[in-house]
Amino acid sequence: MTSWDYKQQALVIYIETEYGQQDITWQRFTSTGPQAFLPLTGNHGSIVWYHSPDEVNRLKALSHDELKYELTAAFPSALGHITRVLGTASFALKRQHAQAYVKPGVALVGDAAHMINPLAGQGVNIGLLDAAALCEVLVDAVKQGRDFSSLVVLKQYENMRRKENLKMMTVMDVFYQVFSNEILPVKFLRNLGLGLAERILPAKNIVMRNAMGLEGKLPKLARGESIV
Ligand SMILES: Cc1cc2nc3c(=O)[nH]c(=O)nc-3n(C[C@H](O)[C@H](O)[C@H](O)COP(=O)(O)OP(=O)(O)OC[C@H]3O[C@@H](n4cnc5c(N)ncnc54)[C@H](O)[C@@H]3O)c2cc1C
Repeated sequence: MTSWDYKQQALVIYIETEYGQQDITWQRFTSTGPQAFLPLTGNHGSIVWYHSPDEVNRLKALSHDELKYELTAAFPSALGHITRVLGTASFALKRQHAQAYVKPGVALVGDAAHMINPLAGQGVNIGLLDAAALCEVLVDAVKQGRDFSSLVVLKQYENMRRKENLKMMTVMDVFYQVFSNEILPVKFLRNLGLGLAERILPAKNIVMRNAMGLEGKLPKLARGESIV
C-alpha cells in the first residue's frame, strides 16, 4: 500500500429535520473542508462536516444539543431546521492505494484496493467499476477455458482499473488542494474555472459525465453491454 493521511477528518452527523427531505444533496467547499447535507428517508438527513482533526474532536465531545447549536450556526438556514441530533461517527481521511491489486487466486476491489478523498463522492463509483471489470475478465477466461484464478488473467483486471483509479485519486487530490487553499491567485483561478465550467455547457457536461463514471476506459457492464 502507498498511503498517507489528509489533514482533515470527516464528522458524520445523523439528524432529524423539521421537514421531510427531498432527493437533493447539498455541498459547499470551505477552506477548512467541505460541508455536505445528504437526504435520508422521511425527516432524516446525514451531515458530513470535514474539518481539522482537532476541530472534529472538539465537535465530537459536545452533547447532541450543543452540536445542534453549532450546526445551526455553521450551515445555511435554507437547508431547513434541525430538530435533533441522533448520532455521530467520525472518519480519518486517508489516501491509500494497493501497489498490486492481484495475486494468484486473489483480487482486491473497492476500498480494499483504494481509498480516495470522499469530497466528490466517487468511492462507490470506482469500486463498482472494479467489480464490473473483474466480472468481465473472469467471464472471458471461463468462456475461453482458461484458469480464471491465474495471475495472467487477474492481471488483465488490474491493468483495466489501477491506472483509471490512480487518475481519479489524483483529480480528487487536486480538488482537495485547490479548495483548501486561501492563497488569492489560487482562489481566483478556482472561481474562474468553476464559473466557466458552469456557463460553458460542453465543459459542464464533460465534468458531469466524469463525475458520474461515464467517461474513460469503461468495462462493458458500465457501458450497458452484456458479458455473457
Ligand atoms: C465520510 C465519508 C463519506 C463518503 N461519501 C461518499 C459519497 O458520498 N459517495 C461515494 O461514492 N462514496 C463515499 N464514500 C466512500 C465510500 O463509503 C466507500 O468508497 C465505499 O463504502 C467502499 O465500499 P467497499 O464495499 O469497497 O468497502 P466498505 O464499504 O468498507 O465495505 C467493506 C465491508 O467489509 C467488512 N469487513 C472488513 N473486514 C472483514 C472481515 N475480515 N470479514 C468480514 N467482513 C469484513 C466491513 O465491515 C465492511 O462492511 C465516503 C466515505 C467516507 C469515509
